Amino acid sequence: MTSAGLKNKGKTTADMNERRTAAAEYTKTSLENIGAISFDALAAEKNVENMIGAIQVPLGYVGPYRIKGDYAEGEFLVPLATTEGALIASVNRGCSVISRAGGASVKVVKDEMTRAPVFRTRDICHATEVSEWIEANLARIKEAAESTTSHGKLLSVMPFPAGRSLHVRFAYETGDAMGMNMATIATEAAAKLIAQETGAVLISVSGNMCTDKKPAAVNGILGRGKTIVADALIPRALLEEKMHTTAAATAETCLRKCAQGSALAGSLGQNAHAANMIAALYIATGQDPAQVVEGSLCMTTCEDLDGDLYISIRLPAVEVGTVGGGTRLPCQQEALQMIDCLGPGKAKKLAEIVGAVVLAGELSTLCAQAAGHLGNAHQQLGR
Ligand code: NAP
Repeated sequence: MTSAGLKNKGKTTADMNERRTAAAEYTKTSLENIGAISFDALAAEKNVENMIGAIQVPLGYVGPYRIKGDYAEGEFLVPLATTEGALIASVNRGCSVISRAGGASVKVVKDEMTRAPVFRTRDICHATEVSEWIEANLARIKEAAESTTSHGKLLSVMPFPAGRSLHVRFAYETGDAMGMNMATIATEAAAKLIAQETGAVLISVSGNMCTDKKPAAVNGILGRGKTIVADALIPRALLEEKMHTTAAATAETCLRKCAQGSALAGSLGQNAHAANMIAALYIATGQDPAQVVEGSLCMTTCEDLDGDLYISIRLPAVEVGTVGGGTRLPCQQEALQMIDCLGPGKAKKLAEIVGAVVLAGELSTLCAQAAGHLGNAHQQLGR
């Protein structure tokens, strides 16, 4: 079989089966389990090429979990997809304790998806002229960008000149879509206008100041997608009864680990394991799993308030949507329905649930480490 022979011949289940048989013969591998999928290949036509089946990731849930957000208000059973034993048990313990303490408060404080093209300019004077042209012509740039989308709204355009390069960070409100395709298409239209009017040469619609799927301080500082904050106050007695530790021990663990250890390591995230909860929720609900990178930029803080534990998280870059992308897939749609987050009007609700679940996972793991239970829990549940 040539690589051309592996290309999509069609999108139906019959085409998929034929392609899988060819791939099984070529690789001398039984693809029996990969072929045993529950949905029609057509449902995935916009999500994958050369489809031969599906990889199934085990799905569990945490909850009922009490969440007090502006959009997510009430009790939720939250689906998490993972292969890491002990993860769901641990997050569930955090959900249970936070629920008994009154619930997780959570807010989306910023909502901007970004794309940043890079232009070549003649020199720094030309780069400055282009930056000034952008500032003076924001209305035209906005019109060009928004001509490509009925939901996207251009919020800001931020130039970063460097030598003969001009990086320009475009930020959009993207409705209920995660918005990466939307922002890319809109930015390309705006960038062509800038190039045509200023003589700057568009080198790439994505010049990495965006920054998509790479760990980057710019996302931690300015935010990308949804910026979320969440907190909870855990009374002393509940902490001792359920987590077998104290506020002082947990706050010290958080300070020495999340703040000091992360600084020493040069880590862009200051948290225990936020990426675990983000990955499990993203996989379950059809988000782009590569954007777990940005999710990992979480800052977790703990304080001992007269024996009670105050815990908070700040997630600067949660890129989620409830329309488009992987949310079109049938299993992922069912998972979204479990938390009433399928379709229009639900993206901020989903973002708040992400924030609350990260808070629960952080609480449980920091308490386990403060109590010296982490290794034991993994030995019992994860091996
Ligand atoms: P999309 O599936 O490409 O597009 C979603 C579209 O749904 C929007 O553009 C919008 O159309 C429409 N829509 C309908 N109802 C909407 C509503 N209530 N709110 C917002 N939009 C609504 O999704 P996307 O979110 O733009 O991009 C996500 C996909 O991009 C994922 O598959 C991800 O893996 C991929 N991705 C792409 C890049 C890239 O560089 N292109 C990078 C990373 C990830 P209108 O725009 O016409 O209004």
